[in-house]
Amino acid sequence: MGRSSFVSVICALILAGCVAKAPEAARAKEGLLRAAASVSVEQRGAAPAAAPGAPEEEAADIHEAEEEDDEVDDGPELPAEPGAGTAARSPLAAMTEAQIEELLTTDPAALGPMSVGPTNAGALVNAVRMPESERWELVDPNHAWGTRETVEALERAIAEVHRQFPGSPKLYIGHISARGGGYLSPHKSHQAGRDVDISYFLDAQHRWYQRATAANLDRERTWAFIRSLITETDVELILIDSSVQRLLKEHALKIGEDKDWLDDIFQFGSRKPRPLIRHARGHASHIHIRFYSPIAQESAARAYPLLLKHKAIKPRTYYVRHRVKKGQTLGWLARRYGTTVEAIKRANGLRSSLIQARRVYNIPRRGGPAAPQALQHITVPARRLPPPRAADASLPERHRPEGPGEAGPGLGG
Ligand SMILES: [Zn+2]
Repeated sequence: MGRSSFVSVICALILAGCVAKAPEAARAKEGLLRAAASVSVEQRGAAPAAAPGAPEEEAADIHEAEEEDDEVDDGPELPAEPGAGTAARSPLAAMTEAQIEELLTTDPAALGPMSVGPTNAGALVNAVRMPESERWELVDPNHAWGTRETVEALERAIAEVHRQFPGSPKLYIGHISARGGGYLSPHKSHQAGRDVDISYFLDAQHRWYQRATAANLDRERTWAFIRSLITETDVELILIDSSVQRLLKEHALKIGEDKDWLDDIFQFGSRKPRPLIRHARGHASHIHIRFYSPIAQESAARAYPLLLKHKAIKPRTYYVRHRVKKGQTLGWLARRYGTTVEAIKRANGLRSSLIQARRVYNIPRRGGPAAPQALQHITVPARRLPPPRAADASLPERHRPEGPGEAGPGLGG
């Protein structure tokens, strides 16, 4: 273990809003580090259970993958920033439960995409696959499913790069989510149709997962892409290695972007508390984007109990039935299914730890998404736009942002 989970815990703490503030910054930071160290040990201990939906046979592989893979736990959902932003309006908000239930049984697709639960314990219903295009290559088309909002936001940001730079080379799009969401090896997130792995724009001999460096990074196109994501779509976060953040930020400054705005969005070289672009290990080879999908998230929150009832998603905890063979013990069952002896005893009303061969026991498993927050409306924070005067005055034509009226559809009002 070590850096991966360590960084992820720090990241999680930062995302949770536990940002140390001066003047006790040093001491608080030390405390954070210590807390992080102890949390990460606990997390590691619970590794098999942290892979909901994965069959037991894969548990060892998952553990390994986390060790060496460059994906990290990018932390829990950011709490919505109060007082700002746009409330989504899912079409389901205006329906009665009976109407939703009727559609669920007769024409579930009509309910539209639903992003259920957080991105690290989520599910996806009525997913939309990222289409094929000359502008990108899907590295793994079977795992390129998202919400409509994710797909459209990605298309819009890429289209903007091509508008500014006709004939741009194609990007590689890696994992978004599995069709039904849920655990997607080797990631911790990518479970709810809102996370996307995508390449940087690099020079001509571009391969998927190639590391971006000062020598090969196409700063103009990559910055145009990032800028478009931030100003024209609803991104929750963007993970980019610090070394690449430096190259992009330097470029943006050079072409006259507003420094305060850059400090607000880049973590690199800034002390602002909530940067949109954050460092995470492994993200020199690709960009990780997490989009808000307010309509799909709100639809899921609205329909969640009915989705469970009609088995469109698994419950958070579900049970499998296991007929015990000779020699199998509670401890063996617990290991086999990634649960605990206590949980199996509870699920079967056992007082002792003895089990009998040939009898059937209920084994609790964590599988489905965590329940969405019981919010009626998901609030997306206001987009962080550069100050219009500075941008208009100093940027060449092709870097000019669109007017506010064209900031893009998809928010539902
Ligand atoms: Zn990712």
